[in-house]
Amino acid sequence: MEKSTIQRCSFCNRPEYDTKFMIKGISGNICDECVQMCSKIIESEIQDKELDNFTLPTPREIHNFLNQYVIGQEDAKKIISVAVYNHYKRIFKQKKHDDVDIEKSNILMIGPTGSGKTLIAQTLAKLLKVPFAIADATTLTEAGYVGEDVENILVRLLQNANYNIERTEKGIIYIDELDKIARKSETPSITRDVSGEGVQQALLKILEGAKVNVPPKGGRKHPHQEFIEINTKNILFITGGAFFGLEKIIQRRLNKKTIGFDADIVSQKEVNAELFKKVIPDDLVKYGLIPELVGRMPVTTALSELDEDALVEILTKPKNAICKQYQKLFEIEGVNLKFEEEALKEIAGIAITHKTGARGLRSIMEKFMLKIMYELPDMPNVRECIITKDVILGKSEPIISFGEKEEKKVSGI
Ligand code: ADP
Repeated sequence: MEKSTIQRCSFCNRPEYDTKFMIKGISGNICDECVQMCSKIIESEIQDKELDNFTLPTPREIHNFLNQYVIGQEDAKKIISVAVYNHYKRIFKQKKHDDVDIEKSNILMIGPTGSGKTLIAQTLAKLLKVPFAIADATTLTEAGYVGEDVENILVRLLQNANYNIERTEKGIIYIDELDKIARKSETPSITRDVSGEGVQQALLKILEGAKVNVPPKGGRKHPHQEFIEINTKNILFITGGAFFGLEKIIQRRLNKKTIGFDADIVSQKEVNAELFKKVIPDDLVKYGLIPELVGRMPVTTALSELDEDALVEILTKPKNAICKQYQKLFEIEGVNLKFEEEALKEIAGIAITHKTGARGLRSIMEKFMLKIMYELPDMPNVRECIITKDVILGKSEPIISFGEKEEKKVSGI
């Protein structure tokens, strides 16, 4: 009998005509599906190894890493570096049967929108190579109500850990807008408070450490399917919020009109930033957080509103700064892109008026760059493009110089 000429995958034995693609080797073949599966196995194995070889950076190293991405917020970066170091030291370095049980220190960051709260949490996860998930407290509800169950945050972390339970249990979760679930009055409500206290209770459960059952990949297909049990004991929870009005509570406690500053000289913004640094747990309870939840976030830190200088720095300095990204895009076209310092200040000024902090910088910039990015690819031989203050003010077009022409002298970055 003649030998079959049909090539098969050496892993799953599928014939070539049943595959989308087959890689043929000297003594074996592998189909596209097996390649994909192998890639997942390799990724998961590498991640497991990473966990085994976890080297804990020192607080200074953590701080230095944060500095590459996060501008300003020095107090917060320092406090968080120490807290994160202690957290992972507790997980990786503490002996199993130690008689002193070091408690977990979740972190609360108080600061306005776009000041870098999420960025700090995200950057920490990147440094430590642990899974990371973000949740918005306002979308959370107690189990059984319409909305997102608190358990869903864990599902997201599990997904980001490629369904590796061990990695999930050492991840970082950032919960934004915690202030929005504060109860409205200081006394506990008699009627059920769906959006506030109930959610705080549910959050408390996972923050303090609990074994939580979450549905497996793709949800439970039938009622008897097993849940996955996640222990939240070692998950680091970082929470954040703007906490408008908290400054008044702190000021009332301090019983001073302003704290060591002359109100005429220092802006209210700066006074508020100083006040937030003096927050104590009782202030947060007065604001509407339940005492148990406050007790589970022993590390509190304040981030200040970013001023013009900081915003200009954010545009230019971080590793993946917005200006650097545009410069890269232009470089691909062979064009040297420059921003005048005054133009950047103007952009920062717009972000300050919009009260969006650094969050608004990208969209502001995008608006001004659109026209030139549309036209540039059709312009031959462009060597340099300079964005001046007048471009931002809508008074002129960017200064373009072409290959043969002499370079115009404009100071920029
Ligand atoms: P929030 O305080 O509201 O959580 P984010 O951290 O989400 O603010 O900030 C939004 C974006 O603004 C970030 O992705 C980052 O690009 C930029 N940003 C905000 N604060 C800083 C900062 N201190 N340093 C550098 N970039 C920042």
